[in-house]
Amino acid sequence: MGPAYTTAYRYYKDSDTTNKIGKTVFNTMLAGMNSTYSHNSIITDSAAAATALASGYKTDNGLIGLKKDHGQKIQTLLEIAKRNGYMTGLAATSTITHATPAAFIAKGGHPRNKEAEIAKDFFKTTPEGKLKFDLLIGGGEKYFAEAFKDFNQTAQEYGLTIYRNGYDLENIKGFPFMAFTSYDYPPFAIDETEENRYRVARMTERSLELLEGKPFFLMVEGSQIDWCGHINDIGCAMAEMDDFAKAVEIAKTYVDTHPDILLIVTADHSTGGLAIGDKVDKKDKSLSEAERAKTYTWYPEIVAKIKASSYAIAKALRESQDVNATFKAYTSITLNENEYRQITQAIVKKDKKVRVIVNEIINRRSHTGWSTQGHTAIDVQTFSYGKESRKFRGFMDNTDIAKKLFDILSE
Ligand SMILES: [Zn+2]
Repeated sequence: MGPAYTTAYRYYKDSDTTNKIGKTVFNTMLAGMNSTYSHNSIITDSAAAATALASGYKTDNGLIGLKKDHGQKIQTLLEIAKRNGYMTGLAATSTITHATPAAFIAKGGHPRNKEAEIAKDFFKTTPEGKLKFDLLIGGGEKYFAEAFKDFNQTAQEYGLTIYRNGYDLENIKGFPFMAFTSYDYPPFAIDETEENRYRVARMTERSLELLEGKPFFLMVEGSQIDWCGHINDIGCAMAEMDDFAKAVEIAKTYVDTHPDILLIVTADHSTGGLAIGDKVDKKDKSLSEAERAKTYTWYPEIVAKIKASSYAIAKALRESQDVNATFKAYTSITLNENEYRQITQAIVKKDKKVRVIVNEIINRRSHTGWSTQGHTAIDVQTFSYGKESRKFRGFMDNTDIAKKLFDILSE
């Protein structure tokens, strides 16, 4: 969630017709910027970035925690919090064994894609033989099923209650618990029904209700902002941003009534090289003359009308009897002849992915730019609110965030 994401979101969210652009929650708590480079690359991946944020140490891309041969015994913020008497929790819209949540609990240089291996680390206990976590909410039960012979039995041994009600978290009572939102990977917000789109918000709200009155360390990740960036899907990214912004609003409101809480919001890196404005091909005959003449513009109103991810739109187009009508129903965009031909050819010849063409059309029409399908090295924003939030102002490295949090947790 680099700066282009929070900026694009501000324009996307500003639905009125005045020239004045409204604020988002991100405007109200900006503290500074942080660098995200990893031990072996200017461009980090999620594993190395999460390790930096969770432990204050840089590691190589692809690794959760430092390799054992680094010779350093690292501790994570979650572990120190637990040791100092805090309740601890992780919640994510990815699998709970995915890089970011995993780095707060797994150590020892696991390859990030070995999620079943990482699942075992969740059950490595404190010196007192207790679980390191009280609350886990996320997808990916399958990795725990893979990791343990009888996972229900394992859970029982640790006094752990398992919930499997998706994002319906109302009936959760007591700690410790794991709430699986899906067996495998959870879907995008934009592909959920209207009332189920706010998953990060719901996880945040319910976690705070359950932790009320206790000292706690809670890490919540809006995991799929990054995934939409990887596929260069702006509608998908803005729907995830909307969910995430709502979660931040909930957390911020909580801090207003709990002034001893510190809220930090940041990104592990940015993705896709999102640009608010893209080069317009002056020779592109598929655009009208008026369209070609406009260089300095971005159209959030086009993005706001997108109703599904490019995966879901491509699937609908492949199953459709009327490509024009289907595309319009999902995007409010009327295809020109060239665009229609591109899609129908891709469906028949399978020469290019339909999903890629869908994104190309939406990006071209909205003037959204992307430079890569991977991550980028741009600095990301640090947002802070509440107790000791001033300590996070200015420029930092991502490891500094962890170091400052270690100090605060040890006070
Ligand atoms: Zn990524």
